[in-house]
Amino acid sequence: MRQPLLFQLNRDIPTTRQIATLVKAGGAAALTEAQRRADAARYLEVQCRSALNRVEGMPFEWTLNPYRGCTHGCHYCFARRYHVQFEMNADDDFASVILVKRNVVEVLRRELDRPSWTRELVAVGTATDPYQPIEGHYKLTRGCLEVLARGRTPIGLVTKGPMIVRDRDVLLDLTRAAECRVYMSVPTVDEEAWRILEPGTAHPLQRLRAVRELVDAGINAGVLMAPIVPGFSSSRDKLERTVKSIADHGARFVGCNVMYLQDGTRSHFMAFLEREFPSLVPRYERLYRSKYPPTTYRKELQGMVRMLQDRHGLGPRDRADRPDGPADATGPEQAGFSW
Ligand code: SF4
Repeated sequence: MRQPLLFQLNRDIPTTRQIATLVKAGGAAALTEAQRRADAARYLEVQCRSALNRVEGMPFEWTLNPYRGCTHGCHYCFARRYHVQFEMNADDDFASVILVKRNVVEVLRRELDRPSWTRELVAVGTATDPYQPIEGHYKLTRGCLEVLARGRTPIGLVTKGPMIVRDRDVLLDLTRAAECRVYMSVPTVDEEAWRILEPGTAHPLQRLRAVRELVDAGINAGVLMAPIVPGFSSSRDKLERTVKSIADHGARFVGCNVMYLQDGTRSHFMAFLEREFPSLVPRYERLYRSKYPPTTYRKELQGMVRMLQDRHGLGPRDRADRPDGPADATGPEQAGFSW
């Protein structure tokens, strides 16, 4: 008996010839089954009036976001709720309509040239990922880092984009001129959780390899296990594999936080659960009566991560939550270092 060919196993999947016939008859619009992925995003160039945004009640004074929206499209992303400021939704719009601040480098240069500028800490990437794929084209993050280095301004930068290794030279300039900390966000190395929760991001191990490259280049780079998502990346086994990988890749520090849900992020995440994991909804409704899960739950998770850090040689010296540890570059909510 003839064995079925590999590509015949799933009869619902069309062959390339069938696709060609469809397109010939009806153009690309005929591909009604095609998935619209994050890379089909629309980019809109905008003029910004200011580059630096003053914040209060955070461990940093200023934020800088060259883009708004993020094609990485993490379902838990706290920045989803900010997209409503532009009259767009926190769901598909957040990951597929990206605002590009075309003039951000020039505006930043003018702001740092002001005599009143006192070189306070700037957090880069608090409402978007500064190394999402479009940065390869616009190089706005790179331009901003060059201006910050010239202005001897200290920064903390958070990203999930391995593209950051492209800018090792500028990050080194910043390290020498002021202070520079890179926080690579790797909430988990578990492949299933990664695929489900962070659809547009690079593989977690690719991000950790970027950390290794940055550290080898002399840059103060560490990892944020943030956010840990209950039920998806919170098991002891997944936490241990993640902590071990972080240690194996030479991270200079590690911090963690548990997911919080608020406004548009909450509604997006709960709708995602109802669609994809309805059996988890009742548990989440109990766990997230407010925007944070109960303190006891967070402390339990924190204790486990600390124990694992000790076990894998990421002792207190390397912890981002020690009192004299690295400053929190991303705020207490999404990526803070205290629970
Ligand atoms: S990479 Fe960061 S900014 Fe982008 S969607 Fe994920 S959490 Fe949000």
